[in-house]
Amino acid sequence: MSRIVLIVLVCYTSLAFAQTKPVISTIDITNFWLAFDQVQNESDSAKAVAIIKSSYVDQATKGLHYFIQSRHFKPVEWYQMIKSYPKYLTSIRPNTLRLATQEVQFNEVLNHFAQLYPAFKQPSIYFCIGTLSTGGTTKNGQILIGTEILIGDSTSNASELPAFFKSLLYSSPTKMLYLVAHEAVHTQQKTHGYGMKTPLLGHALLEGSCDFMAELLLERPVDFLPYINYGKTKRQALWQQFSKDLYSTSSDTRDQWFYNSLDYPVGQGDLGYFIGYEIAKRYYLNARDKKKAIKDILSIDCNSPKKVKKFLAKSGFNG
Ligand SMILES: [Zn+2]
Repeated sequence: MSRIVLIVLVCYTSLAFAQTKPVISTIDITNFWLAFDQVQNESDSAKAVAIIKSSYVDQATKGLHYFIQSRHFKPVEWYQMIKSYPKYLTSIRPNTLRLATQEVQFNEVLNHFAQLYPAFKQPSIYFCIGTLSTGGTTKNGQILIGTEILIGDSTSNASELPAFFKSLLYSSPTKMLYLVAHEAVHTQQKTHGYGMKTPLLGHALLEGSCDFMAELLLERPVDFLPYINYGKTKRQALWQQFSKDLYSTSSDTRDQWFYNSLDYPVGQGDLGYFIGYEIAKRYYLNARDKKKAIKDILSIDCNSPKKVKKFLAKSGFNG
């Protein structure tokens, strides 16, 4: 049966590349499972790492190549993942193979974006297998998905996984669409990523406006995100705390609000996303011209304290 699926996948991915745009590629997923199967039959670890390099890394699509560049993955890290979590990986395999049949839905998200935002530049989507370290990112206008993280659901075997990963294994039909939508927004933003001088408020707008826009693109609430759910119950208190440091560029302050979903002191991680989501949403709801509001949201210069201050004031958000 897996052989049939594989042939279908190969046909599908060849077709995807034959089209002009966008590329929605699952080639790296196919290659990963080829490497995975070979590694099962190899007892010598050095040889197994060499298999991963030749069958997966060396065959990388442009997307996986960018992903490796962004995250500095090494073949040995995939080997360690395969050895540490074989049951989990085996359990997500059918889900990863099903992605090839969902091209229409991903295209719908991108087409909807083009309707809402006439200056939309079509990104390509590469579904890759990372090392259980990142769900997704963008580089050079391409969407790179760490499929192995978000594809896990309530049917997955979590017995080998550290406790903090288990919160990611929920079932939602919009989970992968959400991630694609969120990353698609990043590819259209004026600000490409954050730096040492990005104020806390800018960081919140950079991430949170992607979540708000994802809601527009999917036409349904992103209430399956733990930080959105939790944030809504504590909006006032969170804003009181966040607003003390709006223009702080300290990395310690940033770490209290972002990229801490695996290690947060109280409540919930990634609450900076929630703050930015709320501000962008308020800005949009208050705007008379919705198309212009979307353009404004995507055009925020998130690294400029002056610009983000102005955007916040115009949004009318105050907790
Ligand atoms: Zn993001």
